Amino acid sequence: MAKIGINISTGSLQKEEMIVGIDLGTTNSLVAIIHPESKKPTALKEHDSSSLVPSIVHFGESNQITVGESAKGLLVADPENTIFSVKRLMGKSFNDIKDRGSFFTYKVIDDDTERLVKIQVGDRFYSPVELSSLILKELKSRAEHILKTAVTKAVITVPAYFNDAQRQATRDAGRLAGLDVLRIINEPTAASLAYGIGLKKEEEKTIAVYDLGGGTFDISILKINNGIFEVLSTNGDTYLGGDDFDQVLVKLICKKTAIDENTMRADKSLAQAIRLKAEWVKKQLSSASIVADMVDGEKFEITKQEFEKGIQHLVDKTITCCSQALKDANLGTDQIDEVVMVGGSTRTPLVKETVSKFFNRKVHDDLNPDEVVALGAAIQADILAGNNKEFLLLDITPLSLGIETMGGLMDVLIPRNSKIPTKAARQYTTQKDGQPSMRISVFQGERDLVQHNRKLAEFNLTGIPGMPAGLPKVEVSFLINADGILLVKAKELRSGIEQVIEVKPQYGLTDEEVENMLLASITNASEDMKLRALVEARTEAIQMIETTQKFIEKNKAFLENEEIENTKSALDSLTKVLSSEDKDAIHSHIEALNEISKPYAERLMDIAISKSMKGKKV
Ligand code: ADP
Ligand code: MG
Repeated sequence: MAKIGINISTGSLQKEEMIVGIDLGTTNSLVAIIHPESKKPTALKEHDSSSLVPSIVHFGESNQITVGESAKGLLVADPENTIFSVKRLMGKSFNDIKDRGSFFTYKVIDDDTERLVKIQVGDRFYSPVELSSLILKELKSRAEHILKTAVTKAVITVPAYFNDAQRQATRDAGRLAGLDVLRIINEPTAASLAYGIGLKKEEEKTIAVYDLGGGTFDISILKINNGIFEVLSTNGDTYLGGDDFDQVLVKLICKKTAIDENTMRADKSLAQAIRLKAEWVKKQLSSASIVADMVDGEKFEITKQEFEKGIQHLVDKTITCCSQALKDANLGTDQIDEVVMVGGSTRTPLVKETVSKFFNRKVHDDLNPDEVVALGAAIQADILAGNNKEFLLLDITPLSLGIETMGGLMDVLIPRNSKIPTKAARQYTTQKDGQPSMRISVFQGERDLVQHNRKLAEFNLTGIPGMPAGLPKVEVSFLINADGILLVKAKELRSGIEQVIEVKPQYGLTDEEVENMLLASITNASEDMKLRALVEARTEAIQMIETTQKFIEKNKAFLENEEIENTKSALDSLTKVLSSEDKDAIHSHIEALNEISKPYAERLMDIAISKSMKGKKV
C-alpha cells in the first residue's frame, strides 16, 4: 500500500517520503532537499540562521550531548570534551593518524594500533562511526523540525578518495542515526550535479572540482559521459584548508596586538578565542578590504593585502596539487571544460582568482560553495525517489558478480562497487574431450565458494563442436547496462556459437541482505581461503588422474610393466586421499604420482620429438 503524506509546512501532498541529501563535512554539515513547490534544490535552515551545522560534538557533565554551533563555542572552554574533525578518523586505525596526534585536542586511544581508533571522553569510548551518527542525528532532527515530517531516507556524500571501509563507516553512521542510506555519492559528483553538469544524457565533459574546506583540500578530475561520472584522478592535501588561513591571521593578530604567541598557546582559552576571532576576520576580508577589531582588550587592524600575502603560499600549494591531478589524468588545463568551486574557503577572493587564472577560464561559483555538495546530494535523492525520470541513475554494483568454475569456486568477473554501466569478459575451456556443452552459472556475492553466494541464473552453451579438452575457447562476458540489467553472453570463439541471457541482479535483494552477505564474507574469510585451497587441490588431482589414465592407456606399448603397476597404485592412493579434507595430503600424493610418471613421460616425449624431427631439414 502506498503511503500518502501531507507536508504540513507547505500543505502539499507527498506521495513518497522525502529523501534528503546530506553533506557530512569535516568542518560543517548540512541537509538539502528539492523544494516541493519551487522544485529547486534548497539547503534547509531555520529562519535566518545558517544552513551549516558545525560538525562538532560536545559531551557535557552528565554526558548530555550538544552538536553544532553551541558545541563550536565550547571548543574554547572545554577542548577535551569537544570533538571536531571526526570525518578524518572514519575507517582509520591509530597508526594511520599517529603522526598527526597533536592535531586532536581530545583523547584518541592508542592501545591497539592496528584496530580502528576510538575516542575517549570521560570514562566512555566512542568510535568515529558513533560520533558521526550523533551529527547525523542532529541533522535529521533539524530537518524533521523544519519540514514537519519524518525524515528516514538519505543520500550522503563522501570525498572521492574515500575507500570501501570509509564509505561503509559512513553508511553505518547513517544507519545508527536512524537513516536509511540509499546511496553514498562522491562530493565532486554532487557538486557538479548542483550546477546541472552531467544531468543531460549524451553529455560528454571533463571537469575539475576544486574543494577547499575547513581543514582539507581536494581536487578531482571527473569525466562525465552519458550520466556516468568517472573519477580520472584525485589529489589534494588532507591538512590544508581554511583553518590554515585562520592560523595565518592568528599570527598577524598576535603581532598587531603584541600578544606573545607562546603565552597565547599556553593559555588554551585565549588561543581558542583568537582562533575564532581570526576566522571572523577572514570572512570579513572576503568582502571588505580592511577589518578593525579587538581581542583580549587590544585593538588591531588587518588589510586584505596583508592577509593575501600571508596565505599566498598555501594557495600556491593547492595549485601544485591541481597540476599533479591533471598530470595523473593525462590532461592539460585546456582540456578541462568546466571548473567547479566547492568549500567555504573558496569564498576567499585570492583563491577564486588564482584558480581561475590557472585553469584560464571563469569558474562556477554562483551557488554557495559550502552548500553546493548538499544541493547536489538532494538532486541525486530526487532522482532516486523517481521524481526525475529523464535523468539517469548513477549506480554501482553492491556485490561481486561472477560464474562458477571447476570445483564450485566463484570466479569474479565484475567486483563489487564497480560503476555501471560496465563490462568484463574472460575465457574458459572444456574439461572433457568432445564435451558438447558448457554450463554457465551466474552468482552474486563475496564468498569463495559459489554454494555460499546467491545464484542469479544458469544456462547451457550447447553445440560446441567436438574438440579435445582444453581446446575450445569459451568467452563469457558480463555487461551491466545503465538500468542495472546484467547481460551474460557465452561464446565459443573457434566455432562462433553463442548464447545470451538477461539477469536483473539487484531485484529481490534488500540492503540488509547485501550487508549480511558482505559481513559473512568477512567473518568467513579465513575459512573460505582454506576451503578454496582444498577445492583447488582436489581439482588439480582429478585432472592429473584423468590425464595420467589417458596417457598409460595410449602408451601401454612403450611402458614397462613395473611402471604401469607403480602408476596404478599411486593413482589409487591419490583417488583415496581425494575425499579427505587434507589438502597437504592431496598435494603430496600428486607429487608422488608425478615422481613415478615423470621419467617415462620424459622418455616418451624424447621419442615423440625425435620422431617429429626425422625427415625435417634442419
Ligand atoms: P568542510 O567541507 O571542510 O566541512 P566547508 O566547506 O564548510 O568545510 O568550509 C569551511 C571553511 O570555510 C572554514 O574554514 C570557514 O572559515 C571557511 N569560510 C566560510 N565562509 C567563508 C568566507 N566568507 N570567507 C572565507 N572563508 C570562509
Ligand atoms: Mg566539504
